[in-house]
Amino acid sequence: MPAQQVSKTPNLPTASSVPQNPAEMTPHEKTLDAESFAQQRLAVWQKRLNLHDWNVSVIVSRARDLKPKTLGNIHWDADKKSAVIRVLDPADYRLPWNATLDDIECTVVHELVHLELSSLPRNAASRRDEEHAVVQITSALLGLDHAHPPANATAKAATGTAGTASRVNNPAQ
Ligand SMILES: [Zn+2]
Repeated sequence: MPAQQVSKTPNLPTASSVPQNPAEMTPHEKTLDAESFAQQRLAVWQKRLNLHDWNVSVIVSRARDLKPKTLGNIHWDADKKSAVIRVLDPADYRLPWNATLDDIECTVVHELVHLELSSLPRNAASRRDEEHAVVQITSALLGLDHAHPPANATAKAATGTAGTASRVNNPAQ
């Protein structure tokens, strides 16, 4: 990814954090910073996607707590209108800090798009099509926001009123 296209900053105006040099942050501080960042972006995108009737939370998870080769997932309960998004801990990224945050935002948007589509009927064949659509829509949304294309990704979709979906790691990373 060309450096000039990395537009996401870690020093968004938050009450709890002052801008820090990522090189001086401990892994724990990075986890907390990523969690705060993911929560901020979740709030923004949940509003944009008109999903405010859902109670969505975000959790930073280590790779060992996600399915292999995935960058995150979402589990939802349509009856309770609640969902939990998991995003990969910065400790398990091998990207520069800004690119890591960009990718975490991409996971948040990707999983919210799955949530947006969660009321549609699903079968084994439609899941692959859904995943393709989710990747394309996420790319377009983030492109509008950042004026750069996010990393390609493919993943699995979900079933039933309770659902789950994962964002699969880009093999290029
Ligand atoms: Zn997906």
